[in-house]
Amino acid sequence: MRYYSTSNNAQKVSFRDAVIRGLAHDGGLYMPEVIPTLEDNFIRKLGSLSIHEIAYEVLKEYFKENIEGSELKALIRDALNFDIPLVPITENSYALELFHGPTLSFKDVGARFMARTLSRFAGSEDKGIYVLTATSGDTGSAVAHGFLGVDGIHVVILYPKNGVSEIQEKQMTTLGKNITAVEVNGTFDDCQALVKKAFSDPGLTKELALTSANSINIARLLPQMIYYFHAFAQSKAKGEITFCVPSGNFGNLTAGLLAKKMGLPVNFIAGTNINDVFPKYLVEGEFAPHASKRTISNAMDVGNPSNFQRIQDLYGHSLEKIRKDIPAYSVTDAETKEIMKTVWKENKYMLDPHGAVAYAALQKSGKIRNGNRGIILETAHPAKFREVVENTLEIPVRLPESLTACMKKEKSAIGMNADFNSLKDFLLGQKQLS
Ligand SMILES: *Cc1c(COP(=O)(O)O)cnc(C)c1O
Repeated sequence: MRYYSTSNNAQKVSFRDAVIRGLAHDGGLYMPEVIPTLEDNFIRKLGSLSIHEIAYEVLKEYFKENIEGSELKALIRDALNFDIPLVPITENSYALELFHGPTLSFKDVGARFMARTLSRFAGSEDKGIYVLTATSGDTGSAVAHGFLGVDGIHVVILYPKNGVSEIQEKQMTTLGKNITAVEVNGTFDDCQALVKKAFSDPGLTKELALTSANSINIARLLPQMIYYFHAFAQSKAKGEITFCVPSGNFGNLTAGLLAKKMGLPVNFIAGTNINDVFPKYLVEGEFAPHASKRTISNAMDVGNPSNFQRIQDLYGHSLEKIRKDIPAYSVTDAETKEIMKTVWKENKYMLDPHGAVAYAALQKSGKIRNGNRGIILETAHPAKFREVVENTLEIPVRLPESLTACMKKEKSAIGMNADFNSLKDFLLGQKQLS
């Protein structure tokens, strides 16, 4: 399987190159040149397969140029070492709990896959590989944990000062080893712009093998397909199934759309907070990025969703087709809190603010009727957003042990203005040291 850039379909690269580069040199995002269709028989027998067996069948064509057979199977076992249960909320709605990994975020899935994929490629890069990532909170910790102690890889994480929760900050800034956290005096969009600029700066890319672990990296994106198949396998539903995906950069949703294209018979809805560029695009036909606005579902405070390019590419740039396939709803903080309260009161299910956005969007869509089922993606453990959850539900939320341990450690981060030259000097300096 070769990969092309969404900005230039003619130039194709290997899986290895797509993973190491992250973003294509022309600024586009990598897409697989073909999306293989799975056999009906595979879909029918999904219920009898383990998540590791599903993962192998779904991923093998995409990885096989560089990683195949028993090596891919070992990678899958190592990366997917936690449960992803489908938990009922009401009779016809479920939460797919993606937060049972080491940082209690769905991003653990993609980050663990990417770290293990990249470490198999690091040996052939004599400069060592630099993973440069902008985060609004959850990516940073998942990436840092996923790569911690992996040979030949240096991780640099940019996060907005005062823009992430205390827990998120601790998870990124207390690891040491090959992980460096940079606290940027600016917003998440500033961080993301700095990272994008670094990838297109010839002075940097000549000196350093730079890669991104943001959701733009194909090695993070593709494995996220697995849990849509796995959820479908667990649901045993007769009627239609609709996944509602709480979205920021739209990587999670894009993976779902790829799964659908491979043959998974399901529908999708996108849920956003008031950073509503995508829902607006459906209504107005124009994609108008804006500065991100802060909300209580802050991992989705994205004003310019990077995977939009991939979605357009998947649908041949047809607004009509995108409208038909991906209804989208924007949800305010007040609505998010309201649904958290209702679901707790009536169903005793504790939603985190991101899962709550999805649940509210699912309700707005009116899709769960007449035996049809809705599955929301629960992308973070409620304890990661403890303050909001405790203030909203007025009950204490217990921190899992893995979190209490890192809360006690000392923060270590490098302060920086949102200025590209500062970042460039810093990165080149890191190279001198290593
Ligand atoms: C990153 C994140 C999202 C958004 O995922 P995208 O793939 O960027 O759309 C949603 N919820 C949580 C908790 C996240 O960390």
